[in-house]
Formats: sequence, C-alpha cells, structure tokens
Amino acid sequence: MKNKMGIKIDETIKWQDITPGGVIYDSGSAQHFITGDWRSMKPEFVDENCKHCLLCIPVCPDSAIPVVEGKRLDFNMSHCKGCGICYEVCPFKAIEFMKD
Ligand code: SF4
Ligand code: SF4
Repeated sequence: MKNKMGIKIDETIKWQDITPGGVIYDSGSAQHFITGDWRSMKPEFVDENCKHCLLCIPVCPDSAIPVVEGKRLDFNMSHCKGCGICYEVCPFKAIEFMKD
C-alpha cells in the first residue's frame, strides 16, 4: 500500500510496535518518519523567482528544503509539514502557499 505521496507503507508494523504516545526516543531518527503525511497546507517552489538567498533554510523546522552547492532545491515533501514559515520569510515571492 502507498500513501497519498506515493510512498510505500510498511503494513507489517502493528500498533504494538509503536512506542507509547508515539514518542521518539532516538536522536537523529526524524528522517525515518514520513511526517509530510500530516500536512494540510503545502508550499510550492517558484524556481524562476528564487535568488538562492537561503533565508528560508534555517527557519524550516523540518529541514525540508535541500541545499546543494549553495543553491536551494525543491521541497522535500516527505518531511514538510506545511507550516508556512518559509513562505512568510521569502522576500522574493519564490514560495507560494496553498491547500494540499
Ligand atoms: S528565501 Fe526565497 S529567494 Fe531565498 S532561497 Fe528561499 S525560496 Fe529562494
Ligand atoms: S512549509 Fe514549513 S515545514 Fe514545509 S518547507 Fe516550509 S518551513 Fe519547512
């Protein structure tokens, strides 16, 4: 089975395998959880407006904006939770924000 983003879901994991309250005990394990599933709003990258100032990078609470060789790339929608902070800080209208 796949989720709405086309990411394969491991259906062998039962509720008994999940920690109480879904608490994550291990540090650095967030990349293993597809938190983009929780999103109701989404940002959209407008590539042609981006000046690669990178102001949006440190404000993203989910590290969902990849940077390669000083240039930001499109959003990692597997981890973006749709908080809209990147949209608020971008001074160049390079991010739109809408219902998912
Ligand atoms: S803040 Fe806007 S212009 Fe700057 S890197 Fe991010 S998307 Fe591009
Ligand atoms: S909407 Fe929020 S979580 Fe998604 S990329 Fe922007 S700042 Fe990160």
